[in-house]
Amino acid sequence: MKFVVMTLFPDMIRQAASHSVLGRAVEKGLIGLEAVDIRDYSTNNYHSVDDYPFGGGAGMVMQAEPVYACYADIKEKILTTEAPVILMSPGGRRFDQKIAWELSGHEEIVLLCGHYEGIDQRVIDEIVTDEISIGDYVLTGGELPAMVIMDTVSRLVEGVLGNSESAQEESFSGMWLEYPQYSRPRVFRDREVPEVLTGGNHAAIRKWRLQKAMEKTLERRPDLIDEGAMTKEEAGIFKELKNRL
Ligand code: SAM
Repeated sequence: MKFVVMTLFPDMIRQAASHSVLGRAVEKGLIGLEAVDIRDYSTNNYHSVDDYPFGGGAGMVMQAEPVYACYADIKEKILTTEAPVILMSPGGRRFDQKIAWELSGHEEIVLLCGHYEGIDQRVIDEIVTDEISIGDYVLTGGELPAMVIMDTVSRLVEGVLGNSESAQEESFSGMWLEYPQYSRPRVFRDREVPEVLTGGNHAAIRKWRLQKAMEKTLERRPDLIDEGAMTKEEAGIFKELKNRL
């Protein structure tokens, strides 16, 4: 899978993709990354890409022409598929694990990072196929949202995580938040690891983890729970939990 990021700050993107899991995936060639500087497509002497908004109002707007020229060049020189062009936007659909799985099915994805007050609507209408927000707050630019998306999607790509099961069992992979995790030592400041985890009984461990995941979800994110989608085992434990609370 390859990400092509259209940005005014390509070094920010390259830097973020040079560490940890994403950095290793790029190094191994499992993830491709091209950060393309929109400023390189400015046609004026100052290399500026923004101008005042028609109709007045605060702030500046990213102009349509350099953004379009940047995309046209990417299309000609980099893309080999009909890749989606996703605008980072507070007004887009809210990013979640489901959208991450959906995006992980593409061979190539173009991420367009806005700045200032946003981007001239005409180039959005011309090239953008999807708009994504990473939450109901406003950042100064689209680079952090692009990094959030790249990080989340990359770890769903085959081979990126060491253990291919780790993305399957964690929070948001199903209906439940993840159960608590423990590692050595067995006792930390008088707090012991739950006994069941050290007993070697795999069926008991699986049941305990499911129960803990359900307890946590019921307590913190009841909105995620869909009783109609539960397995018989989950429905049984869920009934017990609700009676207990
Ligand atoms: N004037 C815009 C508005 O009110 O919606 C906000 C523009 S913001 C200062 C500049 C850029 O940051 C946006 O064009 C977008 O690319 C990015 N951005 C800011 N917040 C975001 C969010 N929550 N999710 C995705 N992108 C965001």
